[in-house]
Amino acid sequence: QVIGVPKETFPGEKRVATVPDVIPKLAKLGFSVIVQSGAGDAANVSDDAYVAAGAKVVPDAAGVWSGADIILKVRAPSKDEANLLREGQTLVSFIWPAQNPDLMQSLAARKGTVLAIDSLPRTLSRAQKMDALTSMAGVSGYRAVIEAANAFGRFFNGQITAAGKVPPAKVFIAGAGVAGLAAVGTAANMGAIVRANDTRAEVADQVVSLGGEFVKVDYQEEGSGGGGYAKVMSEGFQKAQREMYAQQAKDADIIITTALIPGKPAPKLITAEMVRSMKPGSVIVDMAGEQGGNCELTEPGQAVVKHGVTIIGYTDLVSRLAKQSSTLYSTNLFRVVEELCKTKDGVINVNMDDDAIRGLTVIKEGAVTWPPPPPKVS
Ligand code: NAD
Repeated sequence: QVIGVPKETFPGEKRVATVPDVIPKLAKLGFSVIVQSGAGDAANVSDDAYVAAGAKVVPDAAGVWSGADIILKVRAPSKDEANLLREGQTLVSFIWPAQNPDLMQSLAARKGTVLAIDSLPRTLSRAQKMDALTSMAGVSGYRAVIEAANAFGRFFNGQITAAGKVPPAKVFIAGAGVAGLAAVGTAANMGAIVRANDTRAEVADQVVSLGGEFVKVDYQEEGSGGGGYAKVMSEGFQKAQREMYAQQAKDADIIITTALIPGKPAPKLITAEMVRSMKPGSVIVDMAGEQGGNCELTEPGQAVVKHGVTIIGYTDLVSRLAKQSSTLYSTNLFRVVEELCKTKDGVINVNMDDDAIRGLTVIKEGAVTWPPPPPKVS
C-alpha cells in the first residue's frame, strides 16, 4: 500500500507527519511513500531529502490524497481535507473527536477509516511508543523554558565571576504532568533553582528525580481523577493552594504553568494580584492558553507585558521547535503503522480486537466507533 503525507494547512502549523528518517523503515514494512512538495519546508526538511530517503514527491495535496491508501497527518483535517477522504482509505492524525463532532460526521460520511492519535489508550504500556501527546508535551515543556529564558533579562545559572556574583534564577512550575516535568528537567539543567507543584501527589518523586523541589499545598486532598489525570479540587484546597502560590509568585523569577483538567477549563492558579506581586522583569509562560489559561492575565497566542511581567501565552510551542516535534511525531506514527502491519507485507489491518488499535480507531469504514467501550474489568 501507499502512504501519503500532505503538507499541513492549519495556519502557523510547521510540523510534518513523516520525516525522511522514517521512510526507509516504512519501506521495510512494505510500504511506498508519497509526500506533497513543500510538506517539510517549515520544519527545514527539503523535498530532496524525501527523495533521497526513497519517497516520491508529488506537486499537490490532491495528488497525495488520491494516490495514497493511508494518509499520515498532524492536525485534524480541515473541511476541504475531510472531503478528500475516500472509501477504503485510512487517515491517522490528531482528531479530538469530543471537541469536533461536525468533523467526525463529515469524515464518517466519506466512508473511510480514521485513527485519532489523541485517542490512544495511554495507560497501556505497549502504547507508550505511539504516544504523541506525551512526545508533544515534552517538546512544549522544553520550549516553554526556552521562551522564558529568552524573555528573562538574566542568566538561569548562578555565576561567580570577576564582574560579580549572579544568583541563580528561581523557576516555579505549576502542574507537573508530562509538559511540567519536561520544564522541570530543562530549567534544572540550565542551572535554575526549580520548584514545582501538582495536585497529584504521585509526581513529587518525579520532580525530585529531575532536579526540582516539590512544594506541597497545606491541605489534605488527593488530586488524581480517572486514568492518571487530575480532577477539580475542593474550594478548601483551592484557597490553600492560592495562598501557597501567592508566596511562590513573590519569590519566583519565572513561572511556567501547565495545569489541565480533561474536559474542563484550565484551573486559574495565578491571579492578577499574584502577577502584580512579582518582581519587575519576571516572566510567566502559560501553557494552558488554549483551555483559557492558568493565569488570569494571559492572552492566548500572545506575549504581553503586564505590571512589568512578561506573560507568554503562545499556543504553538511545538511548531516553534518544528524539526524536533516532527521527528518525534513521525516515530510515534511509524509505531502505529508497525502495529497495524504485523505481517510486514505492506498492508494494514485495523484489528479491533487489539486494545491499542481499538482505542485509536474512531471511525471504521464509515461507522463511528468512538467512544470505545470501557475496558473490561478483570
Ligand atoms: P495534563 O496535561 O492533563 O495536565 C497537566 C498537569 O496539570 C497534570 O499533572 C495535572 O495533575 C496538573 N494539574 C491539574 N490541575 C491542577 C491544579 N489545580 N494545580 C496543580 N496542578 C494541576 O496531563 P498530562 O501531562 O497529559 O498527563 C497526566 C498524567 O497522565 C501524566 O503525568 C501521567 O502520569 C499520565 N500518563 C500516563 C501514561 C502511561 O501510563 N503510559 C502516559 C501518559 C500520561
